[in-house]
Amino acid sequence: MDVLVVGGGLAGASAISTLRAQGFDGRITLLAEEPVHPYERPPLSKEYLRGETTEPQWVRPPSWYEEQGVDLRLGARAAQVVPGDRVVLLEDGERVPYGRLLVATGVRNRRLEVPGADLPGLFDLRTLADADRLREAAGSATSAVIVGAGFIGCEVAASFRRLGLDVTVVEVFPTPLYRVLGPELGRVVEAMHRDHGVRFVLGEGVASFEGSGRAEAVVTEGGRRLEGDLIVVGVGTKPDAPVGVADERGAVPVGPDLAAESEGVYAAGDVADHDHPIFGRIRVEHYDNAIKMGETAARNLLGAGEVFDDPHWFWSDQYDSQLQVAGFATEWDRMVVRGSLEERSFAAFLLKDGVLRCTVTLDRKLDARRSLPLIRAQARPDPALLADPAVDLRTLRPPEGAG
Ligand SMILES: Cc1cc2nc3c(=O)[nH]c(=O)nc-3n(C[C@H](O)[C@H](O)[C@H](O)COP(=O)(O)OP(=O)(O)OC[C@H]3O[C@@H](n4cnc5c(N)ncnc54)[C@H](O)[C@@H]3O)c2cc1C
Repeated sequence: MDVLVVGGGLAGASAISTLRAQGFDGRITLLAEEPVHPYERPPLSKEYLRGETTEPQWVRPPSWYEEQGVDLRLGARAAQVVPGDRVVLLEDGERVPYGRLLVATGVRNRRLEVPGADLPGLFDLRTLADADRLREAAGSATSAVIVGAGFIGCEVAASFRRLGLDVTVVEVFPTPLYRVLGPELGRVVEAMHRDHGVRFVLGEGVASFEGSGRAEAVVTEGGRRLEGDLIVVGVGTKPDAPVGVADERGAVPVGPDLAAESEGVYAAGDVADHDHPIFGRIRVEHYDNAIKMGETAARNLLGAGEVFDDPHWFWSDQYDSQLQVAGFATEWDRMVVRGSLEERSFAAFLLKDGVLRCTVTLDRKLDARRSLPLIRAQARPDPALLADPAVDLRTLRPPEGAG
């Protein structure tokens, strides 16, 4: 059986590593659109962007692929999957057959469809090449306007402040990170950035970009003109699966075991729209998930038949603080806080119908980690115990087999 992995990122490389660790000694081909070996993206908005490290963080050392007998094809983009023929077509028409296929193509940055969006000098951030361009431009800039206060926008704002740039962030929602954290926690993040000197224009979309020859200003729907040496757009992403396995949004719908509808096809990482046993159908863009899904998909394409039920966890570094999110919730009817939002040291437990769905922590790392078993068990912890910092969350864990 030949295994073909499309997408040379975290999920793809983790899957290959697991295949070999499981003793699979058949042919593995990796099609990777980017011209570099698989690397980790989190440093790109943090230490790599700030120039504190200059080496990419490789998922595996570049020599590893050859040592493992992986046919790594850098710069090769899959244009289409033809599941009926078990073949992937490359952009130049070449046909690459497969026995089992793992789609791990991640996401692409969304663009704003407004006048001036095609002006040169507008930056976004996803790839190593993007980070190199942005880092170089930041070196000679004194001011930046960042469009979008999602995780990428917030992290870039924090990095730019540390580099001494004057930073303004424009966001269409009323707070940063509004869609993930809601308004109350979003305001805590906003206050943290304001204390570090970031200016915000909140609740206003972008009407256009302006500049003579290159982007020099963002014009908001409210009519403000915000000038910056650097303009960075971070307004979300869209999944990037090849035609033939993509749904109408560009994702690959997969079952609980990460298998797609077509025989022999699996998906992992940001591109996988997963039927999660706890949360229902969700698609997340997290580092930890990409690794774990890659590992599970690899075992399953060798026949393990495992259900992927990881309760999800991710982090975001901004200034000297670390935000962590365990679990997943788009809606909740109760938030219980342990610690203090004002002092920015807290765990916020998000509950729906009494069930703990998600824990958001700022500088209380252990509480995020320790709530994972509760989230996995769909536990209904006593809110008074959740709120009490003296209570170790591990003692609230339901007995094995319960829940
Ligand atoms: C700047 C930045 C900072 C981040 N920071 C954090 C963080 O702090 N914490 C956290 O939890 N997560 C973070 N993330 C998210 C995390 O990096 C992603 O969730 C993770 O990289 C997803 O892995 P993946 O393998 O699914 O996709 P990717 O790592 O994006 O890899 C997909 C690869 O597939 C390639 N590809 C796409 N289409 C094709 C095709 N048709 N043919 C061949 N190749 C193709 C792409 O070029 C890409 O190289 C960050 C992401 C970015 C961009």
